[in-house]
Amino acid sequence: MHRFFLSEQDTIEEKQIVICSEATRHHMLNVLRMPVGEQCEMIADQRAYLSEIISFEEETVKLNILSSIDRAYESPIGIDLYQCLPKGQKMELIIQKTVELGINAIHLVDAKRCVVDFKHKDVEKKLLRYRKIAEEAAKQSKRLIVPDVCGILQLKALQAHFQSYDLVIVLYEDEHQQTLKPLLKRHELKKIAVIVGPEGGFDPDEIALLKNAGAAIVTLGNRILRTETAGMTAVACIQYELGDLS
Ligand code: SAM
Repeated sequence: MHRFFLSEQDTIEEKQIVICSEATRHHMLNVLRMPVGEQCEMIADQRAYLSEIISFEEETVKLNILSSIDRAYESPIGIDLYQCLPKGQKMELIIQKTVELGINAIHLVDAKRCVVDFKHKDVEKKLLRYRKIAEEAAKQSKRLIVPDVCGILQLKALQAHFQSYDLVIVLYEDEHQQTLKPLLKRHELKKIAVIVGPEGGFDPDEIALLKNAGAAIVTLGNRILRTETAGMTAVACIQYELGDLS
């Protein structure tokens, strides 16, 4: 069943939704060729509504709300991923998989060993593409929100964000003591940040900076994971350990 996120232009009343967004109307009518009478799920304010198309007007689509769908699709744990810019298409895979898992937001980070060089104009274009991938993954995984994709932060600026988290985790393959599990035994972990290095890893002085700012430097074991594997692994482990995936 198709799913659509309502945009600001769209309106939702007691029993009816009116789609005014041209993009959504075009997608329903011309791309998906949805007929009057077809049902779909409409998402508004983190709630899902089973709806039925009643008419395609000149500039709008009218739907009847049949019922609201009360299922907890969103994770109770707000995990933000701070991903150091990887090469090639890896960022797209990272976004798709962590959105499916239930990530709250994804921040693109530039670190010393990042080899990707986004010119200013590319950044906006890339962010548009990444946000589209996040929206598609959110629809497919029945999310009630589309996680934001924000960028680009310099690694040394990350510490300014730390105070909004209950726990900040830096994944570091040269850490051999601190593991994930004991860190998650703390109480009231509602907002967690996970910071992942690029293919070339972190510079030791970057690790020192993050550690001094209060981040927990964590190993995921002795095997070296690709940057695109490490973040999603940590997110899934945190969710499982805190009872979200079980
Ligand atoms: N030093 C690595 C190497 O020898 O290839 C390069 C970095 S690794 C490919 C990419 C990133 O994934 C790292 O910066 C780290 O954030 C994370 N990572 C990979 N394996 C890890 C592990 N076993 N424990 C913690 N983090 C890991």
